Amino acid sequence: MFIVRVMPIARGVFRDHLTFFSRDAIPAGMIVTVSVRNRSLPALVIESRDAREEKLDLRSADFSLKKISPKTRPKRIVTTAFVAAVKDAALWHGVHESIMFATLTSQVILTASNKLEAVTEPTAHLSLETEPTVRADLLVLQAEKEERVRTYRNLARESFARGESVMIIVPTVTEAEQMEENLKRGIEDHVLLLTSEVSKKKIIEAWNRCSTDTKPVLIIGTAFALSAPRTNIGTIVVERESARGYRGFSRPHVDVRRCAESLCRRMGARLILADFPLRIETRYRVDAHEMDELARSQVRPSGTAEISIVDTRKKEIPLEQTSKKVKRVFTALTEETKEKMHREILRGGRAIVFAARRGIAPLTVCNDCGTPVTDPHTGVPMVLHKTADGNQFMSHRSGATLPSETPCKTCKGWNLVTLGIGVERVADELAKAFPDSPLITFTKDSAPTHRTAKKLSEEFFSTEGAILVGTERMLPYLKKPVEIVAVASLDSMLSITAWRAHEHTLSILFYLQEHAELEFIVETRKPDSEVMKTFASGNPADFYRGDIAEREQYGYPPFTTFIGLLWKGTKVSVEKTSLAITEIFSDTDLVGPLPPIAIGKNEWSARAVIRIPRKEWPHTGLAQRILELPPNIEVTVDPDEIV
Ligand SMILES: [Zn+2]
Repeated sequence: MFIVRVMPIARGVFRDHLTFFSRDAIPAGMIVTVSVRNRSLPALVIESRDAREEKLDLRSADFSLKKISPKTRPKRIVTTAFVAAVKDAALWHGVHESIMFATLTSQVILTASNKLEAVTEPTAHLSLETEPTVRADLLVLQAEKEERVRTYRNLARESFARGESVMIIVPTVTEAEQMEENLKRGIEDHVLLLTSEVSKKKIIEAWNRCSTDTKPVLIIGTAFALSAPRTNIGTIVVERESARGYRGFSRPHVDVRRCAESLCRRMGARLILADFPLRIETRYRVDAHEMDELARSQVRPSGTAEISIVDTRKKEIPLEQTSKKVKRVFTALTEETKEKMHREILRGGRAIVFAARRGIAPLTVCNDCGTPVTDPHTGVPMVLHKTADGNQFMSHRSGATLPSETPCKTCKGWNLVTLGIGVERVADELAKAFPDSPLITFTKDSAPTHRTAKKLSEEFFSTEGAILVGTERMLPYLKKPVEIVAVASLDSMLSITAWRAHEHTLSILFYLQEHAELEFIVETRKPDSEVMKTFASGNPADFYRGDIAEREQYGYPPFTTFIGLLWKGTKVSVEKTSLAITEIFSDTDLVGPLPPIAIGKNEWSARAVIRIPRKEWPHTGLAQRILELPPNIEVTVDPDEIV
């Protein structure tokens, strides 16, 4: 008799896993039919174990074991290597395997299991218990996009000649579509696009082609493409590996790059992490001889656009000088920059303007007593936003709003001034300066979905003399360079203390530079920051050397793995959890728990971090303890920030 752990597939019925009896062992990755609350449901097998070896588990089981209906014939829908990779990735991320499965596959596939062909595997004896014996080739490619695309084209051609398939994982749907557009010429019949925007019918078609047709294919897709049941993949590329989109914003905060690497190891395929510049942590793995270069790394950007870094502190106009402070006029863009934009637009060129922050202004203060406008629940500064009902203060932490006609809470005065430059303020100024030019604002607010975002992008690229102003939201949609690109504000990103924030800012600058044909202008009040100096030098390695030395000195990633813990609730419950965390992890290098902070009305949160030397993670014992934590504690292995 075998104990079979399965993940039932249905909306509404979801728990870690259910356990059933079966006379025969059913390998992981098979679909079976089980009965849950008197309903027959398809379920994915995660694991089968001989009942004789499971005595202890059986006695402590808190559920009654049922038999898997013998009528159903198990059918394999994902590869054995994928199942093994899911297990590895689940262990590394400190999450249950079923959650990892659900994250890396598609609901479309899981709910259409009756329409899927069974996967046939040439190597059916892959063991899931032991580490893979073939060392996967781990490679990096530091090159700008045009060169990367050229490399992928060659890669596909060479792989096809060897009878191998290639998979390119991209961070966003739009990049998948652009990549398909760039690579499909001449091999249209061999390209499979897998994104959440592809119709259900086409996804199922592609899936069945992967499982039944052995001719090599080029798979281009977002994270769930990793589960495509293709056995002859020789190379998996992670395109634009520095993209934040590879890290899930919501739980379980899975790092897709790491999952791709797990899959490569289990398949014996090579992995290529590609970008310009590569992440510091990726670059370090080359120095540590864990990864090799696919081709000689590109050192500097190749673009010919003229680059100017404008120190805006020198351009402010002092209005009046009081005993306390100098009152100044801030403009979102200097006259010189607007002048240059004018010239290009007159010639029918296009302009892109970047601003880091949403809203009109990230900070508003009382000009009389200096009190900032803050969220009444959490105390964080509120952002002034333009809304359909006029301007409003919004808290990006709790979502609280206040009317813009709110007096100073300290002196009840009305003399409020905005500080800092949000994208809506930039848009307002551009509308005034360029009354005849089509102006498109591109933010999470104006482009909440892929469809709306794509529409804005198409409108911009099909309109001569158009200006696009936006936040990070617009970046993946910049499908080709335009004449002039300007950064109106990015300084707020330079004051973020999280250790990856500056690296991220630098990569945004290089990304934008790649999209400027003739002129790239960066306006900043911090031209002396490391990020700006590195950007001006044009060599990302300058930043790498300083940053990696600092990380080593202070024991930050990649030298240490951080396991972030975050919990929310009432102040009392948060404090209670803090005590429990201290107790559970007393034998680890635990930093925190930090004192609770308010995140909303009667809502609090607290954090703690477990530090563990990089080579010691994943640690099975500690991973088990993390898995057993109550679900209100959010676990993020290798989080971007810890406070
Ligand atoms: Zn005041």
